[in-house]
Formats: sequence, C-alpha cells, structure tokens
Amino acid sequence: MKKDRVFIRLTDIPDEGRSYTYDRETGEFNLPLKDLIDENLYKIDFFIRPVGNVFEVTGKVSTTLTRICSKCGYDLALPVETKIHEILMPKTEDAKGDTQSKSGFLAKSVDDEALAVTYVSGGVLNGEDMIHEIVALSDPAFPSCGKDKCENLEEVEKKLRELAQASELALQGKNTAFEVLKSLKIQNSKN
Ligand SMILES: [Zn+2]
Repeated sequence: MKKDRVFIRLTDIPDEGRSYTYDRETGEFNLPLKDLIDENLYKIDFFIRPVGNVFEVTGKVSTTLTRICSKCGYDLALPVETKIHEILMPKTEDAKGDTQSKSGFLAKSVDDEALAVTYVSGGVLNGEDMIHEIVALSDPAFPSCGKDKCENLEEVEKKLRELAQASELALQGKNTAFEVLKSLKIQNSKN
C-alpha cells in the first residue's frame, strides 16, 4: 500500500484556506510516525490559510505514545492531544546560512506556547516533518504514570516497606518464614 507523501504546495491553497485530515485509515502518516507511535491510532487535523505573505497552520494531533514509566517501570499509554500552531515562512536565500535545525523549527515563543515558525523551501510544506516534530515534542524524556508523580510508585514503595518489615520480623523470630510468605501472598492477590 503506497501512500502519497504529504508535501503541500502552498500556492495551491485558496484564499479561504484548506483543511487536511489524516488518520491510520487514510494512512499517510503510518510510516512517518512509526518511530514515535508504532501502530497506535492517530488523528491529525489542520487548516492552512494565507495571512499576508505567510501561511498559518492551526489544528490538532491526537494519538497515544506507548512508553515505560521512568519511575516504576510499568507500561504506559500516554495520550497526546497537541495543538498545532505554525507560521509558515518562505525560506529565502538569505536564510540559507542560519543555524536552524534541518526542519527549520524555531524554539517555542514565550507569548504563545504552541506557536512555532517553520521555514518552507520552494513553496512546498513537508507535512511529514512538521507533524513528526510536533509529536516528538510531546514525547516526554521521563514519562510517568501520573501527571505529577507516578501512580504506581506508592504501591511499589508500600510493597517494599512491607517486605522489609516482614523480613525484619522474621529475623527477630517473631514470625515464621511460612507466615511471612502467607502474608505476601495475600497482599499480591489483592491486585
Ligand atoms: Zn509509574
């Protein structure tokens, strides 16, 4: 199944703008996003319209990142709901020697957290690079089960404390090894 690559010629976009929608069924981003989301579902919606001499892209990427929690090691499905807000600037000859990354993204501006500038060479937007960059920015360096702290960590720490306590009691001779094992079994079966 060969899909057209997502290269959008900006001069083809009418004054009123144009909408673009992609998902795993339409398939255009299955390969470009494979390194980030593998086979997970995704939905990409964006709208491009001319604004003066530049183009504005607004929209949303929804998908899931399958990661491992950096704290407890549990498998994680991280939902991603990322807004797209890009200004597409024609890349002029003057800009050739600049130090932008290969996809030409600027750092996020202070005023608008989602706003980024993409330089477009030859009037053609590489939609694959743009969306890949946006999803990659949503990929946390240290993923965690919870928003602020790992949800499983407390449970893991509690189990460790109980284990330490049980082994201490066993060492003191207050518990037989059999009773320690029995109590652990009961704790585990709660899951
Ligand atoms: Zn965790």
